[in-house]
Amino acid sequence: MNELEKIKSENDKLKEIDENKSELISISAHQLRTSLSALKWTLKMILDKELGEINEEQKNYIEKAISSNDRSIVLVNYLLTFNHSDDLSYVSKLKEINIVSVFEKVSADFIAELKNKQIELIFNKKEENIPNINCDEPMIMMVLQNLIENAIKYSPNKSRITISINYNSDNNNIELSFHDEGIGIKKEDQIKIFNKFFRAPNAIEKETIGSGLGLFITKNIVEKHNGKIWFESLPESGTTFFVTLPIH
Ligand code: ADP
Repeated sequence: MNELEKIKSENDKLKEIDENKSELISISAHQLRTSLSALKWTLKMILDKELGEINEEQKNYIEKAISSNDRSIVLVNYLLTFNHSDDLSYVSKLKEINIVSVFEKVSADFIAELKNKQIELIFNKKEENIPNINCDEPMIMMVLQNLIENAIKYSPNKSRITISINYNSDNNNIELSFHDEGIGIKKEDQIKIFNKFFRAPNAIEKETIGSGLGLFITKNIVEKHNGKIWFESLPESGTTFFVTLPIH
């Protein structure tokens, strides 16, 4: 086999692996969507008091669970849509949103996990008034969700996560950063971190659950909004992800 044939055969093998993974995602996403829909209807029945009276506190918890479930359904739908294409060329519905309220909604989903790992979530906001941005809300939620989830997932117990949201009036950008004191990303892995399905060996060792899709989707969404995403990381010391989103 000459060099060219070798490369072609390697390429064919990688294509086959990619196709198998796509099929697995399709099957899992469909199954997941069915369970999430069933869960949604059960929660709705409880909320609508079809199973008996509920008090105000229970109502609040059920509402939170429903909105978290709805976000998961959106994520699964996106997974199904983009699974066979790398450019995430779905149609987006733009809407004016306040990034701080979106952050508050998303972070509420992680209260139990943070408590469980005894991680302190610190939120910094320099300016009082952060201008609204025009964006696809479920997608931006997914960006925040992925970055917060990773920060928690790859952090040790009893550590701190600091999230900052600022407005830079010089370039009219919203600037976000997500800092953790976790496992970090080794130099040799840094170049591959946004690749579809890539998971660094230290991440696999720490946290066996993961798809290697979160950052790939996140980067696509940010870039679709004409924003930028990058990170700085020191192995065994921590990672900071930075995201900028233009106001217009
Ligand atoms: P996963 O499902 O594996 O978390 P992602 O696409 O979200 O997939 O992330 C890809 C990889 O990037 C992870 O497997 C991990 O190696 C690395 N990574 C992402 N976020 C962090 C972080 N906060 N700290 C350390 N490594 C991270």
